[in-house]
Amino acid sequence: MGKIILTGDRPTGRLHVGHYVGSLRRRVELQNSGEYDKTFIMIADAQALTDNIENPEKVRQNIIEVALDYLACGLDPAKSTLFIQSQIAELCELTFYYMDLVTVSRLQRNPTVKSEIKMRNFEASIPVGFFTYPISQAADITAFKATTVPVGEDQLPMIEQTREIVRKFNAVYEEVLVEPEVLLPENDACMRLPGIDGKAKMSKSLGNCIYLADSADEVRKKIMSMYTDPEHIQVSDPGHIEGNTVFTYLDAFCRPEHFERYLPDYADLNELKAHYQRGGLGDVKVKKFLNNIIQEELEPIRTRRKEFEKDIPAIYEMLKKGSDIAREVAAQTLSEVKRAMKINYFEDMALIQSQAEKYGQES
Ligand code: ATP
Ligand code: MG
Repeated sequence: MGKIILTGDRPTGRLHVGHYVGSLRRRVELQNSGEYDKTFIMIADAQALTDNIENPEKVRQNIIEVALDYLACGLDPAKSTLFIQSQIAELCELTFYYMDLVTVSRLQRNPTVKSEIKMRNFEASIPVGFFTYPISQAADITAFKATTVPVGEDQLPMIEQTREIVRKFNAVYEEVLVEPEVLLPENDACMRLPGIDGKAKMSKSLGNCIYLADSADEVRKKIMSMYTDPEHIQVSDPGHIEGNTVFTYLDAFCRPEHFERYLPDYADLNELKAHYQRGGLGDVKVKKFLNNIIQEELEPIRTRRKEFEKDIPAIYEMLKKGSDIAREVAAQTLSEVKRAMKINYFEDMALIQSQAEKYGQES
């Protein structure tokens, strides 16, 4: 059995730096590491429709935005299969069969779905498709027999749900499905990067993002307006690090060499934090440092994106090819699933034979 990656994003907007530190950066490293036999990257449009049913145009428009962000970050169609979820009908079939393996109360306990329902004010009008999206996500992961799923922390309950479905399926039917491992980011800041407003999670739906495609000027303005420590009023005041978005972003982005380049008065991030906590270090200085670091990281991404923007039809063509490959892989898994579930009537000669014999027909 090979090592296989599957992960993806909802085309509900352009990708932001939360996606970047939470999953995208890692995906590109894994893709280039040579340690994985296959990498599948999915644009989850069908999942995006579960809570955007009145806005299909938004989802449609953002397919290309997400694809451009992927390519700009270094996902390479020669090494990874990039595809669109809705084009793989087999995923719907798998979802339907997996629904039999999950209880309503189990879905109700999913903490991410719970908080997303709250955030979207669904209350009593939760679309069934949205409520059951963890099952569809299990179909996405298992269709490709993924062993490794690099995602942010909010996806943990989804992977756990997938693992339960796999165990149940393999126990009830046959050992067909593969239990995936989650690959979380290296530190807390990257697991769930907060929004620039300091809210718990940077999220397209909350409008508190720094987008990978933002211009240098937009990025600078957003960083300068970032939430810090409301009690840190005068430069001389002692400041708090915890819950201070600028420092959380530094945890996510800062590397030792950044100090040599942009802030040589400090040896490392710990020294900078200590000074802030002591008092005497102003927000503007820290924000400027962060701005330098983020600009350095985003500049090559922006430049590559501009190149890819020059040939949009080629990107659709690449996604079509990727979807064709993905469909073949998913069809193979589906056929194994159907055999295990005993719903493969027409390819089971022994079944037809035994039924014929039951009715007195000799072969
Ligand atoms: P939406 O608001 O439409 O749900 P989103 O911004 O949450 O959009 P998704 O497409 O749901 O983005 O998530 C794609 C991937 O990015 C997932 O692996 C998720 O864990 C990760 N991710 C999203 N937001 C963050 C964040 N703020 N910090 C770290 N990882 C994140
Ligand atoms: Mg999300």
